[in-house]
Amino acid sequence: MNCLVCSYCFRFIGSIEHQIGRQLFWLDFGVPTDDCEGKELSHPNRDFCNSHHSDEAGSSGKELQENGGCSSSSSKPKVSIPKDLLHSLMNGDTLLPYSEHFPLPSIVPCPGACEESYYCSPSCAHADWEEFHSLLCTGKGSKALSTEALLKFIEHANETNDIFLPAAKVISFTILRYRKFKADWISGKGKYDASVKSAFSLLLEAWKPVSMGHKKCWWGCVDLPNDIDHGDEGAIRMQIKELADESLQLLKAAIFDHECEALFSLEIYGHIIGMFELNNLDLIVESPLVNYFKHIDDLPSLEKREAEQIIRPILDALGDEYSTCCQGTAFFPLQSCMNHSCKPNAKAFKREEDLDGDAIIITLEPIQKGEEITISYIDEDLPIEERQELLADYGFRCKCPKCLEETIEGVN
Ligand SMILES: [Zn+2]
Ligand SMILES: [Zn+2]
Ligand SMILES: [Zn+2]
Repeated sequence: MNCLVCSYCFRFIGSIEHQIGRQLFWLDFGVPTDDCEGKELSHPNRDFCNSHHSDEAGSSGKELQENGGCSSSSSKPKVSIPKDLLHSLMNGDTLLPYSEHFPLPSIVPCPGACEESYYCSPSCAHADWEEFHSLLCTGKGSKALSTEALLKFIEHANETNDIFLPAAKVISFTILRYRKFKADWISGKGKYDASVKSAFSLLLEAWKPVSMGHKKCWWGCVDLPNDIDHGDEGAIRMQIKELADESLQLLKAAIFDHECEALFSLEIYGHIIGMFELNNLDLIVESPLVNYFKHIDDLPSLEKREAEQIIRPILDALGDEYSTCCQGTAFFPLQSCMNHSCKPNAKAFKREEDLDGDAIIITLEPIQKGEEITISYIDEDLPIEERQELLADYGFRCKCPKCLEETIEGVN
């Protein structure tokens, strides 16, 4: 919320000034920022969400405050910025020194005019519209049955559990793909010709990318807090199921499609959310503000002093919050196909130069042609018993070379 990123590729957009203005604006409202180091993710909405935090986020942005001798240990802003400066930062009237070295793509609005989704380019706007957003847009151009119902669904997700939002995206994605396949089939233009027997087989085809993830039902596989009573477990899982049903009914009122009725069963909904539980990677895109403030900090002393006269009040107002990154979870179908090993030969990684939401898988050792690529779903340095316990949530007992070796050692 405090950073403005492309709703499709998660690249930061607008300008350095706009990003700063936006953060100050939300701080003014008392909205806490996401902490890149994953310390503050105990958001009440996320009680039942995945909590595999990544610790790859950069904290290099701290330098300026430490060196600048003007740091405050509290994350609350001590100084507030005049409202008109804040607005002139957001609308581009105020330019900050050296920001021209950190150009960001200009903001492209949603084609459905919802004022919720923004893009880095017309191509991202178009791709998101075609693939996901046209059914979930709350603007005038939306293809939802009812934007009013859609707003109720979103409000419910924000109040209860925001994992319902990506689940709706999966359903919207499948419906839109199905409609496209069907249009091709009827017109005879696409790859689907008369050999396709039924519209249902097109729905299965549309569902294919999603079907790659490991799936278990959400209320069955979700981690519950350790301190709950065993006797309460069944009741809590039942409550989670009821919550999912509430959410599904709201979504149905918003985007139901008779031909895709199969997608709207509670069973499927539970499995989609379960898939997010089990396959998601934390996605972090570092804020360009980190590099911007570092650039100022690294200037020769005269230039630095001049720039700081302008930047200092802003930094003081931002407090510790200026390096806020864009943080979320993401589902990558290809990555979700990779099997687990406690001695993996690859890992999902985000490099500093990766400015968007893509996941990069890097190899940890040479991999031979034909050899399986494995990643670790858990912290592979944990003792074997803890590893097996965590992996039981994914529905298997690990028999990787490391586990086998440690089991044999344990027996001897
Ligand atoms: Zn984009
Ligand atoms: Zn929209
Ligand atoms: Zn193992």
